[in-house]
Amino acid sequence: MPLSPATTAALASVSTAEPWSLIERFTTLKREHPADVATAADEIVTRLTRLGVPVDVHRPTLFLSLPGAASVRAGAQLFRAKPMAMSVALPTGVTAPLAYVPARYARNADEMFTKGFVSDAEVDLRGKIVVSEGFGMPGKVAYFEQRGAIGMIAVNPGHNAHWGICTTVWGTPDLRDLPRKPNMAVVAVNNPDGLALIEVAKAGGSVTLTSEVTEGWWESPIPVVTIPGSEEPEAFVLLHGHYDSWDYGIGDNAVGDGTLLEVARVLWEHRASLKRSVRIAWWPGHSTGRYAGSTWFADAFALDLYEHCIAQVNCDSPGCRWATEYKDISWMDETEAFCQSVIRDVTGQESHGERPHQAGDYSFNNIGISSFFMLLSTMKDSHREELGYYAVGGCGANIAWHTEEDLLHIADREILDKDIRIYLAAVMEVANATIAPFNFRQTLRTFSTTLDQYQAAVGAHFDFGPARQAIAELDASLEALGSHACKAATGTVGDAAVRRVNRVIRRLARLLVPVNYTRGPAFFHDPAETTPALPDLSVALAAPTTPPDELGFLQTHLLRGQNRLVAALRDARHAVDGAIA
Ligand SMILES: [Zn+2]
Repeated sequence: MPLSPATTAALASVSTAEPWSLIERFTTLKREHPADVATAADEIVTRLTRLGVPVDVHRPTLFLSLPGAASVRAGAQLFRAKPMAMSVALPTGVTAPLAYVPARYARNADEMFTKGFVSDAEVDLRGKIVVSEGFGMPGKVAYFEQRGAIGMIAVNPGHNAHWGICTTVWGTPDLRDLPRKPNMAVVAVNNPDGLALIEVAKAGGSVTLTSEVTEGWWESPIPVVTIPGSEEPEAFVLLHGHYDSWDYGIGDNAVGDGTLLEVARVLWEHRASLKRSVRIAWWPGHSTGRYAGSTWFADAFALDLYEHCIAQVNCDSPGCRWATEYKDISWMDETEAFCQSVIRDVTGQESHGERPHQAGDYSFNNIGISSFFMLLSTMKDSHREELGYYAVGGCGANIAWHTEEDLLHIADREILDKDIRIYLAAVMEVANATIAPFNFRQTLRTFSTTLDQYQAAVGAHFDFGPARQAIAELDASLEALGSHACKAATGTVGDAAVRRVNRVIRRLARLLVPVNYTRGPAFFHDPAETTPALPDLSVALAAPTTPPDELGFLQTHLLRGQNRLVAALRDARHAVDGAIA
């Protein structure tokens, strides 16, 4: 599908001058403490204003956690450490026996987000401080806390300890979330120090863990640019990324902030050719509040998003050094063909994607919004291997990610130029498409593949027949919607028939995204932990190891989960049939 003339014209206006200037400014501005974050927001707003782009600034008060100093003392040895955000502070220090629980490092970014692998070593952790390889990922932290540990030392794989956040609570906690707030001190140490501490544990030693963390509420600005569409302005695409960072955070995420700035500048210049609106948002509270900025926006504008948002597009760590590949990109199934086509048209390169992680600023799954991109370009695996790089969660796979070394050399101006074009083209093509370019028949194909796996695991103990039938019926209705949409597509964006089709495409997302990505209710936020496909039904995988007298619990869960799925599929079919009639 070639790019439209309007998109091609906008692409011709792209320059890296403004983004690079912002990136250079951010090399002298740490964006971690709320005061510095506010200065960074001023920088973005000042630049937009100078470029003539109108910008609104929201000023919510967010719940954040600011790590300070930390150390681990073992006898005469003192090791530097970095506290994880949202971990418990131990300002005066606690002394306890050290226990080693071996773990395997993630092999790639996917595993970093999805598998907090720890060995099942039968060690009594009650009242102890755990030392274990890896990052202080929330699943692992919760696991050690359950086993009674009072502290955790994450042995990071490289010569630098990485900053990060260790809670599963998504954004500012509500009353449902509060019990999941971590109750344990968690710090990261670099690899040599970690290996020394593992030896201390093996010798039965104790350590004193000291950790400063300040929790509280801070006003945090959110700049939002709205470029109004001329034909259906109430419908919009949301493009967004975080502007707070760990330390100077150039690859994560000054490059993304520059990308958003340039897309805003170019879209504003070409606004006459924009049919629907585009909103561009820069989030605070990503690093210190587990996506608190985007979560606040999802809450404050929930109903507008629910009714009018066509897609949400996240921008994190584009344009980094050596990131020449487009693989492992987050996108929901219905957007896959569209995303691949845009990347091919802009770069001439093929791309490969995967199911989005419950991570990044994907704060919109419980509302049910079709979503694509988080990290974009990345390094070749062979290049990573040559360099001996371990897996990290950003910076185009550069291990400077979340460390003091994420500086200007991590950004690459040519790759940034390419990535800006991808974001601009993707957002503009969605905003201008007569019919939203999302294919939910692909979503249903993945549902079926998922059910095949679950059925194979659960065998005769449960029957996914009703779900399969509802999938087949919705698929038939979607086929009819396809031919109907082809006819409608000859009209204009404002036509009643076109609006009806697009409304039903948004409705499909509202119904099918939540059943595939969430367990909790709409307008709340699921935890930041791995969510398998059709999560209510994924318990089927446990059937082979479930004792016979407990199968009834599993079957009850599956029955409830299947009811939720079938109801969503049937509601979707009724919506589609109604739009065609
Ligand atoms: Zn990031």
